[in-house]
Amino acid sequence: MSQQNPVFIPGPTNIPEAIRKAVDMPTIDHRSPAFGQMLHPAIANVRKVLKSEAAEVFLFPSTGTGGWETAITNTLSPGDKVLAARNGMFSHRWIDMCQRHGLKVEVVQARWGAGIPADRFEEILTADRGHEIKVVLATHNETATGVRSDIAAVRRALDAAGHPALLFVDGVSSIGSMDFRMDDWGVDIAVTGSQKGFMLPAGLAIVAFSAKAKAAGETATLPRTFFDIRDMERTYAANGYPYTPAVGLINGLKFSSDMLLAEGLENVFARHHRIAEGVRRAVAAWGLRLCAESPDLCSDTVSAILAPEGFNATEIVNRAAAAYGVAFGTGLGEVAGKVFRIGHLGSLTDVMALSGIATAEMVMVDLGLPIRLGSGVAAAQDFYRHGAPAKRAAA
Ligand SMILES: *Cc1c(COP(=O)(O)O)cnc(C)c1O
Repeated sequence: MSQQNPVFIPGPTNIPEAIRKAVDMPTIDHRSPAFGQMLHPAIANVRKVLKSEAAEVFLFPSTGTGGWETAITNTLSPGDKVLAARNGMFSHRWIDMCQRHGLKVEVVQARWGAGIPADRFEEILTADRGHEIKVVLATHNETATGVRSDIAAVRRALDAAGHPALLFVDGVSSIGSMDFRMDDWGVDIAVTGSQKGFMLPAGLAIVAFSAKAKAAGETATLPRTFFDIRDMERTYAANGYPYTPAVGLINGLKFSSDMLLAEGLENVFARHHRIAEGVRRAVAAWGLRLCAESPDLCSDTVSAILAPEGFNATEIVNRAAAAYGVAFGTGLGEVAGKVFRIGHLGSLTDVMALSGIATAEMVMVDLGLPIRLGSGVAAAQDFYRHGAPAKRAAA
């Protein structure tokens, strides 16, 4: 794998040089005010990225998966019921985690390629007159299938049913790259990690709680120690941590969130949308289809591309790595071997995206697929040429 090439996996994402420098720092005393000068601005920036006025943000030395565990263990008790849809590998794994914590999960099976069925949620929530369901879990962007679900619609389902359940959203592959509105959507807990939209190395779970989610913690009895937000809250007030923080990553997060806010969140989202649309035009030019079942579901951070029937999509990923030193994502779970994924989130430009599209083309031609060299590149070029120049420069 050439380290000169960008990666096209949907996380960890490419790390801009300036962010690498911010992460690489000498040891400081993590109980000193100097640490607070990184921690508090990083938290304030994350809140802005989430479009929240008052969410409490916690940064654990962990990953997105630890963020899920933080959400569950700080709000629920053994035997509590939660509602979730399974429409890809990440929603599947969150369900699995709940079950391993002794929660009862009402699972709505959805096709891999479909979004969260908000209408089905509404029926189930309406039927739950005793309000046994404590939490609705929603994966905003299914990284396995390249499907973005409509979180506002999930909120409307809760409201239409008049149901008081909390809404937890996995935004690991959307936050910082696609529009996310914690307050507007009434999200009670938002979860992400450092290595996707925030363009950092892996190592931080980034978790935001609404006041209602925090209040649920007062009676929740699932065991929690490392991920107990009460300990975090207490020590944050004194610029500290209950244990040793990942200082370099927190400094990096302050820096990377500054970068996102300086570019302007709407510009960041527009850039991701434009890059993604170029990839989608290329896919169409190749005569291939996306795993996402309809255009409104298409993710702007990752495209899962169906290989022709009977062809093992993993061969594309393997050949790209071996022959060209370029990383694409393999298919996971039910779509293993059926899709390959082009990650297009984080630090990426139109020009970088073109190199990924060109590589995918070379690989598919090498493997004998009926693709014409340059066809996808030309379709994307055609689209990128018409992008707004000012926005293009901002990336
Ligand atoms: C990457 C990802 C995760 C897992 O995050 P880790 O940081 O690897 O623990 C969870 N959910 C989604 C949607 C993801 O894309």
